[in-house]
Parts: sequence; structure tokens; C-alpha cells
Amino acid sequence: MANTVKIPTDMLPEDGRFGSGPSKIRPEQIAALDDGATTLLGTSHRQTPVRQLVGSIKEGLSSFFNLPDGYEIALGNGGASCFWEIACASLITRQAAFGTYGSFSAKFAKSAAAAPFLEDPVIYEGEPGTYRLPELTEYVDAYCWAHNETSTGVAAPVHRIEGSKEQGALTLIDATSAAGALPVDISQTDAYYFSPQKAFGSDGGLWVAVLSPAAIERAARVEANVNLPGASRWVPPFLSLTSAVENSRKDQTLNTPSVATLIMMENQVRWLNNNGGMAWATARCSKSASTLYAWAEASEYAKPFVSDEAARSRAVVTVDLDESINAQQMISILRDNGIVDTAGYRKLGRNQLRIGVFPSVEPSDVLALTRCIDYVAERM
Ligand SMILES: *Cc1c(COP(=O)(O)O)cnc(C)c1O
Repeated sequence: MANTVKIPTDMLPEDGRFGSGPSKIRPEQIAALDDGATTLLGTSHRQTPVRQLVGSIKEGLSSFFNLPDGYEIALGNGGASCFWEIACASLITRQAAFGTYGSFSAKFAKSAAAAPFLEDPVIYEGEPGTYRLPELTEYVDAYCWAHNETSTGVAAPVHRIEGSKEQGALTLIDATSAAGALPVDISQTDAYYFSPQKAFGSDGGLWVAVLSPAAIERAARVEANVNLPGASRWVPPFLSLTSAVENSRKDQTLNTPSVATLIMMENQVRWLNNNGGMAWATARCSKSASTLYAWAEASEYAKPFVSDEAARSRAVVTVDLDESINAQQMISILRDNGIVDTAGYRKLGRNQLRIGVFPSVEPSDVLALTRCIDYVAERM
């Protein structure tokens, strides 16, 4: 077996970053850091310039997601993982139902199971490579699943579970690797939350949530009855959704954010909107994903991991390799050639490639990637 293979330079993609998050950051986003080198970086997030940046992100996302009346954008520190804890502390009243079908969807369910003031969650579990939505369940006040299960490359539908609204329940969607890459009708959700290091091509560390009036009201109601003597629930101030909403309304965050992350995020949201918003971004991701799925379908040694075509993600593409090709070796040879982060999710443990095809990735680079993989496969 060849230790490594040198891919001819003219075959290589222009940019070799195909991670599923962190993901490619466009050079223009980095240049935006330079532009803000003295006016934004190293300045107070309580003053106008940084607040304008936050305001622009909120406005840009409102337009990107075509926000229904009364919906608001909130943000804070801690990433999507932190939002799971915020949801447990501030949004779920008694009990939540979860669709779990991979690492990320299962992690939120685990948090809810660990919260001592919540009833044990009701879990609807699907096999990795498929999705399963939670079903209408008596007593439940929040339905939770992931739009895009990043660990397996599965996209799930986003719509309210029939009967859930009548029940007064909220729909909380983990959109971390979907927002900006997959189409969504926000009116079908109460919290559509994500981090900026996937489709928004920024750095990690922030969470952003699109919130319905019902979600904002729920948080206010839950938080009104806690932290009193004898109350059954403690909401740490850092996990208060109400305080995040109040700060976001003032174009601020509860505590100090990474200004660099905000600058790069703001640049990306503007870039997406200037190019045609959600319709453009999702078509571009879909094109890249189709290139990969078509290549894998036609390949002698590769095939899409997700068998249900409708569930194949157009944001994160997973491709199984047969035993003739060692995925670990393939990934490491690609890396030697500057093509990085094509590994499958570690805990899934398959002989697999996983490729992030977020809007920042050029569809022509995805085509080049398939040719590089074939080139290496022939020489391994
Ligand atoms: C990446 C990811 C997360 C975790 O995001 P952090 O910013 O690291 O907290 C959660 N859910 C999904 C679906 C993800 O892809």
C-alpha cells in the first residue's frame, strides 16, 4: 500500500477545507477582520460600533429567514451546546419529547434527562443513517429534534408535530449545521438555533436562536417562578433565555462575546443575502451535495451512507467506502495534499468520508474533490 500519493496540483480544489464544522471561512471574512482592526477588534461590545455589528447580524438573519411577525433573533455565548442547557433551564416546562438519530440529537435528550426538575424525556429513537421525529405525546410541552444530524449526514423534515400546537407545546429545532444551508419555514418552529461555525463559516463560541413569541413568553413564564425560596428549579443567570432576549434587543450579549466571530458572521450573512438569500444558499449547497451523491452512486467503491434519498443531507454528505479502500488512509492522504477534515464522525465508527458542503464551499471545488478521491483510490 502506498504510504501517500501526490495529487497533481492542477487537480486540487482551490480551497481544501471540507469540514462539517468548523468549516471553511472565506478570505473576504478574514479581510473583514482587517477592516475592523482598529474600529471593532479590541473595543467595547457595549458601544455603538460592536452593537451595530450585532444589529446587522440580527437584521440580516431576519431577512434571510423571512421572519414571521413577532419572531426575534437572540444570541449569546456558549454555542449550540449551551442552548441545550438554556432550553432545559428556561424553555421546557415539565417534559420534552425527542427524536434521536445520531450523536447531536441524542446529546440534547441526555441534558433533559439529567435536569432534576424535568420529567424523564420521551425518546423516539431512530437508527443512525435514518431520522425519527418525536410523536404526539400526552403531557409533553416541547418537541425536539435536529434539522441536520451532523454525525450521520441525515436531514430531517421541520414541521410542527400534528396536534402539538393545540397542546401548547413548543417545537425546538437544532439547526446548527442546517441553518444557512437547508430550506426552512421558520413558522413551523419556536426555537431554531445554531452556532456560526458551520454554514455561516465563522468561528465557534456563539449560539444564535430564532425565537417565536410563544418561546419568548414560555421562558418568561418559566423563569418567573424560579430561584425563589422553595422553588423546584434553579436557572443559572447564564442560562436565562429571558436575559439573553433582553440583551439581544439592545444589540448586546449577556457577557463579552468574541468580536472577531461577530465580524466574520456579519460578513457571511451579508454575503448570503446579497447573493439571493436562502434560495441561493440552499440551491448552492444542493448542487454541491448532488455532485457528491451522483459521484458516489456511480463509483465502484463508494456509496451514499443514507439510503433514503429524501433524508440525504444537502449540507453534510456522508459516503461509505468499501473494504478495498481504507477510509483512514484516504483521509490522511487527502490531508497530505491539503484537503482536510473529510473524516466521518468518530463515534459512528464507519469506513466513511464526511464532507461539509456549506455555502462557502465552491461547487467546483466539490467536483475537484471527487476527482482527487478517485485519483488517490486508484493509487492506494
Ligand atoms: C456542531 C453541532 C452542535 C454543537 O455545536 P457547538 O457550537 O460545538 O456547541 C450541536 N448540534 C449540531 C447538529 C451540530 O452540528
